[in-house]
Amino acid sequence: VWRFRPAGPSAPDRHHESKEQNMISTGLEGRAVVVTGAASGIGRTTALKFAREGAKVLVADLDQAGAEETVKEIKAAGGHALAVVGDLSDQQVVDDVVARAVEAFGRLDVLVNNAGIMDRMSALGETDDAEWERVIRINLTAPFLLTRAVLPHMLAAGSGSIVFTASEAALRGSAAGAAYTASKHAVVGLVKSLAVMYRGQGIRANAIAPGPTATSIRVDAGAEAHGPTVIGPLIGANIGRRGSAQEQADAIVYLASDAASFVNGAVLPVDDGWAAV
Ligand code: NAD
Repeated sequence: VWRFRPAGPSAPDRHHESKEQNMISTGLEGRAVVVTGAASGIGRTTALKFAREGAKVLVADLDQAGAEETVKEIKAAGGHALAVVGDLSDQQVVDDVVARAVEAFGRLDVLVNNAGIMDRMSALGETDDAEWERVIRINLTAPFLLTRAVLPHMLAAGSGSIVFTASEAALRGSAAGAAYTASKHAVVGLVKSLAVMYRGQGIRANAIAPGPTATSIRVDAGAEAHGPTVIGPLIGANIGRRGSAQEQADAIVYLASDAASFVNGAVLPVDDGWAAV
C-alpha cells in the first residue's frame, strides 16, 4: 500500500493509521485541549465531544457555574477535565489557563478559541467606544493573548492545532454589528497569519464560520437592532434552518484532529450553504 510520507519538519507523523483497521484516527486520545467559552453553547458541546474522543479538557470561561457544570458532565462520563474561571482578555487569566493545563495534563496539544460576545450589535455610526473596546477585547484580543501563550508549548513539542470560532460575520457584512463583524474578520487574519508563519513547525490554525446556531447568544437581536431593511437582505432571504451546537462542535473537533492534518489556514463555513448564496 502506497502511503504519502513527506520528509521534513512538517511531516504529519501525528496523522497515523491504525495498523489493525487501516483507518485514519482522529488522534485525540490522551491529547490536552483548552476550550474557551466552554460553559455553554458551542464551547460546551465541543468540550464534551473532545472528552468523548479521549482528550483531557481545560474548560475556560467567565461563567463559573456553567464551567463547573461542563467539567461535572465530562467527569460523570469518565473523562478528565478542569475549569479555569476568568475573563480571557486578562493576561493573568490567560497565563493561569496555560499554566494549569500544562501542570494538570503535562502537555498542550489543542487550543479552541471559541469564547465570544455580540454585545449591542450596533451599526458603525452608533458604536460607542465602550462597545468597540469590549467586543474587540473579547473576540480578538483574548484569542490573540491565549494563542501567544500556548505557542511556546506547541513549538517545543513540534505540534499543535489551534481552532477559532469565527462567524458568518467573518465572511460578509453582518447584522451582528460593526465591532462584531470587524472582530470576526480579524480572527480570520489571525488564522491566516498563523498558518503562514508556523507551517513547517507542526502547528496548524483553522476556523469555523458558523451560521446562526441555537445557543444562548442572541442571534436574533441583530434583526431587532437594525430592522427589516438591513436584516432582510442579510438574513431574511437566505437563511435556512438554525444549526445546532453539535454541528459546530463536530467541525471544530475535525479541524483540531489528525483527520485534518493537511488543513491549515482554512475558514470552514458551517451554515447549510448560507455563505455560498
Ligand atoms: P454562548 O453565549 O452560549 O457562549 C459563549 C461563551 O463565552 C459563554 O459561556 C460566555 O460566558 C463565554 N465568554 C464570553 N466572554 C468571555 C470572556 N471575556 N472570558 C471568558 N469567557 C467568555 O454563545 P455561542 O453561540 O456558543 O458562542 C460561541 C462562539 O460562537 C462565539 O465566538 C460566537 O461569536 C460564535 N458564533 C456563534 C453563532 C451563533 O449563532 N450562536 C454564530 C456565529 C458565531
